Amino acid sequence: MAKKIKTIGVLTSGGDAPGMNAAVRAVVRTSITEGIRVKGIMRGFAGLLDEEIKEMDSFSVADIINRGGTILYTARCKAFMEESVQRQAAEICRKHEIDGLVVIGGDGSFRGARSLARLGINTIGIPGTIDLDIACTDYTIGFDTAINTAIDAIDKIRDTSTSHERVSIVEVMGRHAGYIALWCGIASGAEEILLPEYYDHDEQRIIDKIIEHRKKGKRHHIIINAEGIGHSVSMAARIEAATGIETRATILGHMQRGGMPSCKDRVYASIMGAKAAHLLKEGKSERIIAYQHGEFIDYDIEDALAMEKSLPEEYVAISRGLIRF
Ligand code: ATP
Repeated sequence: MAKKIKTIGVLTSGGDAPGMNAAVRAVVRTSITEGIRVKGIMRGFAGLLDEEIKEMDSFSVADIINRGGTILYTARCKAFMEESVQRQAAEICRKHEIDGLVVIGGDGSFRGARSLARLGINTIGIPGTIDLDIACTDYTIGFDTAINTAIDAIDKIRDTSTSHERVSIVEVMGRHAGYIALWCGIASGAEEILLPEYYDHDEQRIIDKIIEHRKKGKRHHIIINAEGIGHSVSMAARIEAATGIETRATILGHMQRGGMPSCKDRVYASIMGAKAAHLLKEGKSERIIAYQHGEFIDYDIEDALAMEKSLPEEYVAISRGLIRF
């Protein structure tokens, strides 16, 4: 028989992402609507171990749907990899009568959630990361806001870059995954998109292209570089030395994580938060909420973690075709 959940805990873990607050709000309000108590766990698994746990009511999530970051704060907690620590955490959940848990974060956070589920705490994961690098889903909370924040900055850099007839390298987030770089590269009309998955370290090709574009009369040259490739400042110095064209690097950094979540992030995060609360109410555990082919669905956590994801080759090929000049 399905376990009847009386109290749901909710936490955010790993990197923060705009829209996490909308998900937290939806978990809290939906649970209360369903007659389930909710407790907010501060600072991810670290806060769970420190028993930073507070009762939530509808009012405690008022005025947050439009705010970036996460009101629950977030953290990384290395110690949580250890089984003895996970047992301790499960005991803390029981002590605080938390029998269902919603974990909003990335793959690492889902692994933490799975370990608690194996120790008797029903858990549901919600994909929250600006990097879009969770295999089971086409949507992750925060990606839409992050790319719109980045594109706003890139458009501004492009204005000044054109005025000064410069080459500009703009470094966007994405340590392992090039989704932000690819989307921003296409959307900004960049002349070059450097993706961690495809980068061949051939700077001479980049330099030759800049020179060729100048000869053809192009007055600016925007290079979108992913964080995973990095070295934008030294790359700019080498390009300037080789081409004689002023070249500047801008690293957008953490600004991409912040700011008001987009409408899409607010709505999708709200739906995911509500679905997580409903799944727990139905007695489900070890599920990950996902969005695929226009539908919100859920996967077994084991299956979800075993899936692999790579940048769609077709999009990469199309992006290359668009920047021919
Ligand atoms: P992001 O995509 O933003 O990096 P993430 O959830 O993948 O998010 P991680 O730092 O990998 O971020 O994981 C967050 C936390 O989840 C870790 O600090 C740790 O507490 C917990 N965690 C990660 N991997 C495991 C694991 N294998 N077992 C138990 N807990 C884990």
